[in-house]
Amino acid sequence: MHDIAIAGCGPGGLASALFLHRLGHRVVLFERFDDPQPVGSGLLVQPSGLAVLQTLGLADAIRSKGARVNFLKGTSAPSGKRALDVRYGALGGDGCAYGVHRGLLFDTLFDAVRAEGIAIETGRTVASAESDAAGGCFHFADGSKSAGFDCLIDALGARTPLAPPSGRDLAYGALWATLNWPEGAGFLEDALDQRYRRAHEMIGVMPIGVNPATERKGAAFFWSVRADQCEALHAAGTEAWRQQVLALWPETAPLIDQIADTRDMVFAQYAHRTVRKPVAPGFAHLGDAWHSTSPQLGQGANMALLDAAGLAAGFHRYPDIADALAHYAWLRTSHIKLYQAMSMVFTPLYQAGDRLRPFVRDQLVHWFAGIWPARNLVAAIVSGGVGWPLRPMGLDTLEL
Ligand SMILES: Cc1cc2nc3c(=O)[nH]c(=O)nc-3n(C[C@H](O)[C@H](O)[C@H](O)COP(=O)(O)OP(=O)(O)OC[C@H]3O[C@@H](n4cnc5c(N)ncnc54)[C@H](O)[C@@H]3O)c2cc1C
Repeated sequence: MHDIAIAGCGPGGLASALFLHRLGHRVVLFERFDDPQPVGSGLLVQPSGLAVLQTLGLADAIRSKGARVNFLKGTSAPSGKRALDVRYGALGGDGCAYGVHRGLLFDTLFDAVRAEGIAIETGRTVASAESDAAGGCFHFADGSKSAGFDCLIDALGARTPLAPPSGRDLAYGALWATLNWPEGAGFLEDALDQRYRRAHEMIGVMPIGVNPATERKGAAFFWSVRADQCEALHAAGTEAWRQQVLALWPETAPLIDQIADTRDMVFAQYAHRTVRKPVAPGFAHLGDAWHSTSPQLGQGANMALLDAAGLAAGFHRYPDIADALAHYAWLRTSHIKLYQAMSMVFTPLYQAGDRLRPFVRDQLVHWFAGIWPARNLVAAIVSGGVGWPLRPMGLDTLEL
């Protein structure tokens, strides 16, 4: 049994804590917020992430309160061409994703962590860490430091202070809002639906099932914007933005009528980065702290859950920490490299200022959607299953 400290109460940190605690280790979580909370709006739980939650016995909460998503759809304006066409049904069986409010995923994991009595130290902003093969500790922003642990896990997200700078901020981000689902307005209840003007304008509407904050059916709404133009958008005023949105997708009126001020939306900027060395003696990066990218492929939370499962597989297989961490890195590295590369290729097709890439996108999607193996491949990519990340983990052999 090891003493393991995990920094960060996001999906990656919480799922890791559950896995490691159930494998018999003593786990302590550290989080900067006094009340741990999810940041942001909706996200897609892909089949890969759902498989990890299933291993933890938590998938039913997502299935019952999330919105079943069978399609990812996108349409170019004004041509009306298909610019995104993913059908989970192509995977066979009962393949689908679940649109959820972040709060549902967070509450599901956090409630399980609390129910199992896992220690959480809140109001602890991690500033740095020291570790070697014998163990280590975290240093906090207030100058204090944690007790000593056998192993430290960095699940602090994309802006972790524990990793060397790498990658770059992407030019585009998005303004996000969580809204009430506009009943009877004709939006697809089982699809993430998007509209694009080339790739410089994009609107997305996604069903998220029950919004835990309101207990009502919710929708995630997002508007793509360049980070360096976000302030100008606010300065131009809410009405000017409203007109721009309605010009691209007039039917969104019942959604944007719920947004009184553009500043009520949350701006999320994305970074594309991968830490080259995910593990060091007595230390590992996990989730966005290891690798982050734009949410175009809808993978981030799912990748963090897969990392947590990989870490559990490492600790299940090897009693020695160095061996466990090496196995974790081995299990996850190729899948992460593959998805980071795909995200690098796909993101500019949907968020960019030029004409060529969206033109190519619209031709490719049209062609791909009609071809049987290509349709299956696209569904497999988005489901998170390309590269078979789960099979070598042997999750069914974990005695949790
Ligand atoms: C707008 C947007 C849309 C997205 N859509 C999707 C999607 O559809 N599907 C999907 O799978 N992913 C999506 N993602 C990505 C997904 O949210 C992340 O990949 C995922 O949350 C990563 O989980 P994590 O546990 O690694 O880190 P995080 O969720 O970032 O959690 C990090 C935790 O660490 C805490 N923390 C941070 N710094 C400190 C510190 N110094 N000290 C102590 N605590 C700290 C934070 O408060 C937080 O609790 C989206 C991301 C964004 C921004």
